[in-house]
Amino acid sequence: MTSDLASCLWHQTCQETPAFEELTGEAEADLVVIGGGFTGCSAALKAAEMGASVHLIEADETGSGGSGRNVGLVNAGLWLPPEDINAELGAGTGSRLSQLLAGAPDMVFSLITKHAIQCEAETGGTLHCAHAPAGMKDLQRRHAQLRAIGAPVQLLPRDDAIQRTGSEAVHGALFDPRAGTIQPLAFVRGLARAAARAGAQLHEHSAATAISRDGSTWHVATPKGSIRAKHLIMATNAYARSLSGYAAPQVIPVHYFQAATDPLPAPLLRQILPMKEGCWDTALVMSSWRLDQAGRLIIGGMGALDHFGSALHRSWLPRKLAALYPDLKEAQLRSHWHGRIAMTAEHLPKILDLQGGFACFGYSGRGIGPGTLFGTAMAEALLTGDSTCLPVPPVPDHSLPFASLRSTYYETGATLTHLISNR
Ligand SMILES: Cc1cc2nc3c(=O)[nH]c(=O)nc-3n(C[C@H](O)[C@H](O)[C@H](O)COP(=O)(O)OP(=O)(O)OC[C@H]3O[C@@H](n4cnc5c(N)ncnc54)[C@H](O)[C@@H]3O)c2cc1C
Repeated sequence: MTSDLASCLWHQTCQETPAFEELTGEAEADLVVIGGGFTGCSAALKAAEMGASVHLIEADETGSGGSGRNVGLVNAGLWLPPEDINAELGAGTGSRLSQLLAGAPDMVFSLITKHAIQCEAETGGTLHCAHAPAGMKDLQRRHAQLRAIGAPVQLLPRDDAIQRTGSEAVHGALFDPRAGTIQPLAFVRGLARAAARAGAQLHEHSAATAISRDGSTWHVATPKGSIRAKHLIMATNAYARSLSGYAAPQVIPVHYFQAATDPLPAPLLRQILPMKEGCWDTALVMSSWRLDQAGRLIIGGMGALDHFGSALHRSWLPRKLAALYPDLKEAQLRSHWHGRIAMTAEHLPKILDLQGGFACFGYSGRGIGPGTLFGTAMAEALLTGDSTCLPVPPVPDHSLPFASLRSTYYETGATLTHLISNR
């Protein structure tokens, strides 16, 4: 495990503990998957269930990337509301994507049940909370667009939102009953366990160091082994390591950090999120909060914890917590960690056509449902030769100029906001 993950709550409380040996020697397979997050593990599971031989290689440990660091909100869609998706992709492709993603939480929760994944699943929905009266405008727009495509979302007025969150700091909320929360590391490890049980060969501490193609065969090299396969899925997303023979698609890395209280006493848990919905807000520099199974409140905001301005993020977090819940103003926040989100310029995920393989990236902060859906679909498309099951048509190329400049813009914005914000 990379050293920064030791402080991640999900790594401290995970009940799923599969471990996989490093790849040694030469192997052959129908499909090789690179990256052990939601995308890669769901692809490996689907391929194995289809009867294919599949090897998955992970550079570190399962869930070391975004999948083991995230907030755990299982959403039924992307960050963009449906009409904005249609404006980018066209009405046909956009509506199909929104409809497929509407079913993504069901897909995730069904996999959890089917494979008995111990990941603290809560299916009581999520609350997108208005951080200020102006935030309600955004929620009304989202509500109208989501209702228009048949989503069972409800707009809650301020009093109802206060009752549901237990916080007087919210000004209304959009409730999505299809959504929920999970312990994200446990979910991805559970997918890996299920994939192995279905016959997939998984290898940790096995970074791909070189990729090449010989006719219709992919060759993937690792420090101690190699795999030859007909099909390839690159599922390395924001955590792509450099390797010879392959340039990972550019994304805008945006950081997000979190920390957790100790388990809250029962009287507080009767007031704070009594129905255990996961929450995030409408602020431009967004925050999120949710409970875990033990009753810890996990709170987060945009920003990285590894640069000279990170102290500003850390000192803002207890102020935010106290603004949301004055009863928690003395609460200790522990287990600080952060992770890297892969954004695209359009805030939409992409599938890159590698001719005999796919690379998938850019869920833009919504990867639990989408990653599970895209990973599953990519395996199916490659093994059946029918790409119509893909949620979006694959693109032949991708470029994103000024990605690191854009990343600096987000980080600077978050740091300055946390500097001046008293809540
Ligand atoms: C802090 C944070 C909060 C988030 N909150 C949410 C949320 O609440 N809800 C939600 O839906 N989404 C959320 N997301 C987004 C979501 O976590 C990601 O979109 C998702 O995890 C991406 O999954 P993935 O499998 O594509 O990539 P990852 O999980 O990042 O996996 C990529 C893997 O590839 C491996 N790898 C890289 N290079 C190599 C190589 N050369 N060889 C072998 N392996 C390699 C990495 O080690 C890594 O494990 C959040 C993300 C972050 C960072």
